[in-house]
Amino acid sequence: MSAPTSLPFPKRDCSRCGGSGRYSYNSMHGDRCYGCSGTGRQFAGSKVSTLATEIRQRIRSQKEALASDVGAGDLLWIVAGRIASRIDRGDGGSWIEVLDVTHSLGERSGQSMSGSLRADPRAQWGIVAPVVQPGWTLSITLVDGTVQRRISSRQILRRKATDAIRQSDAARLLAACPKAHRSVYEQELVEAGWNLEELR
Ligand SMILES: [Zn+2]
Repeated sequence: MSAPTSLPFPKRDCSRCGGSGRYSYNSMHGDRCYGCSGTGRQFAGSKVSTLATEIRQRIRSQKEALASDVGAGDLLWIVAGRIASRIDRGDGGSWIEVLDVTHSLGERSGQSMSGSLRADPRAQWGIVAPVVQPGWTLSITLVDGTVQRRISSRQILRRKATDAIRQSDAARLLAACPKAHRSVYEQELVEAGWNLEELR
């Protein structure tokens, strides 16, 4: 059984503002509480906070990829035979899996492959590839037999991310959650589709 695609993090009411999200007024930020950025909630303890940072960083790294990192199992959004630069409702596209990738670059330094990456909010695992440098050749064979030879900036890739949120993440968060907040957190896990019996 695969893990649910969302993972709640144990939170409690902010200790600074008591959950209202508001604290003393200043002209720059109004009365927004600094303890919780105005949300009224904060992580339930430092262990949870550390774990949450680690898990979020890992999930984020799986949502992003350099064009040079595309590999078998990743998915591309293909519209009319081309890699799309955006995903739109009704564009007729579909995710097609990458079977094999070959690429070469005269000078394969980190610098030449770097670029700013930006997650596409419309696709759960969408990313935008960096501009590819001249001299880099790429050949992506998809499972439907077609071959793509161009990846430019702003094209959407989707990484194979089946293990993005692991059951062990949920189990570790549950174990790190302070007793006083555990029952509330267990309820949130169940609502998100987790099986508590498998986490204990
Ligand atoms: Zn607060």
